[in-house]
Amino acid sequence: MKDVCSLEASGLLSVDAALAQIQNTLSSITETEKLDLKHAVGRVLATPVTAAINLPSDRNSAMDGYAFASGDIKTGQPFNLTLVGTSWAGRPFSGDLQPGECVRIFTGAVLPERADSVIMQEQVTAEQDSVLFPANCRPFQNVREIGEDVKQHSVLLDAPKKLRAADLGLLAAAGVDEVEIRRKLHIAFFSTGDELLALGQKLESGQIYDSNRYILHGLLTNPCFAVRDMGVIPDNKVLLEQALVSAAENNDVIITTGGASVGDADYIQEILAACGQVSFWKIAMKPGKPLAFGNIGKCTFFGLPGNPIAVMATFDKIVSVALRQLSGEPALKTLQLKAVCQSPLKKAAGRQEYQRGILQQNTSGEFIVESAGRQGSNILSAMSRANCYIVLPRECCGVQIGEQVIVEPFESLI
Ligand code: AMP
Ligand code: MG
Repeated sequence: MKDVCSLEASGLLSVDAALAQIQNTLSSITETEKLDLKHAVGRVLATPVTAAINLPSDRNSAMDGYAFASGDIKTGQPFNLTLVGTSWAGRPFSGDLQPGECVRIFTGAVLPERADSVIMQEQVTAEQDSVLFPANCRPFQNVREIGEDVKQHSVLLDAPKKLRAADLGLLAAAGVDEVEIRRKLHIAFFSTGDELLALGQKLESGQIYDSNRYILHGLLTNPCFAVRDMGVIPDNKVLLEQALVSAAENNDVIITTGGASVGDADYIQEILAACGQVSFWKIAMKPGKPLAFGNIGKCTFFGLPGNPIAVMATFDKIVSVALRQLSGEPALKTLQLKAVCQSPLKKAAGRQEYQRGILQQNTSGEFIVESAGRQGSNILSAMSRANCYIVLPRECCGVQIGEQVIVEPFESLI
């Protein structure tokens, strides 16, 4: 095995070290806006919400059945109670429940004042106004107590929090129709490269369609982001400078792809040296070695590699973490699973690899993974087939069939 101990010696920066530098540099947007609940899904809650009411606000029934007072139970023997009315959901029983009485009750209906128990309708025999309760009738069953879900004045939702459907339900249940959320993060992106052609035009020899902008468009489709697609910018210093300066004017973030490797990057280095700052990193990950990170004024800059799979890997592992931090979203961890590898995997020691895999669970519940195909950083078909990364550590020199590997299912943040 090769010596891979010293990343510094090889001029490589680990993914964690790159993230730590990025995270130390960036701070979250602070501006907020008020939004009605329906428009807040997927957005980041900026201020905690306190419950103005108890949930539930009334003691109510968890079943369709009969409500009664536990004091009427005759332990060990059946007993009869007189049926004096009905409590419907939304239409409570208005009378007083006296000893020896019960009411018909439906799920969600308020229990009469003295009642503290509900029996399922299947367990009683009702004949006109007399209801026969069984010998084994238990007290305090099937009752939803006031505040058992959320207590009045307690924190309903803490901030920051990315709001999901369940959160909208919780807020709605507590009568909250408007929330304060972080404003959207404004992100501009463009592709660089003389070989790139926009869709709809006829390819000449040596040209390729620009796939990265579609990848970024997909990756940036997020309710927290407002994106501006700036198209393809040729490898031309003046045009590149114009694009960068214009994007920096009214965006929080600029993401470019291509031209980030040393040598290629001269233009960006020159431009950003004049109006901002940029560091060119060689990240110890494959795909995705070159990555530029910097700023033009308040605008954060990410220069991603040109190869599409490297764009996705650097976005997943680095840029998305930074964007979450900027939008004020709490950090998330990537779910890692152990899976038995069904294909031999080639790898040289040196960089952490995110190979594209297809993860399944076999009939015994065991996770198994196979390679999604060729692993070049230009091989889009394998990425499209894949549903996970197979994470191979720096020191790994390949995997044999039957070995255990770590996999990260796509879209599995916890
Ligand atoms: P570069 O980093 O500019 O040297 O590009 C590395 C590789 O990625 C080259 O093969 C480029 O043609 C390819 N590439 C760069 N930008 C794109 C893009 N927007 N879409 C597809 N491939 C690209
Ligand atoms: Mg290029």
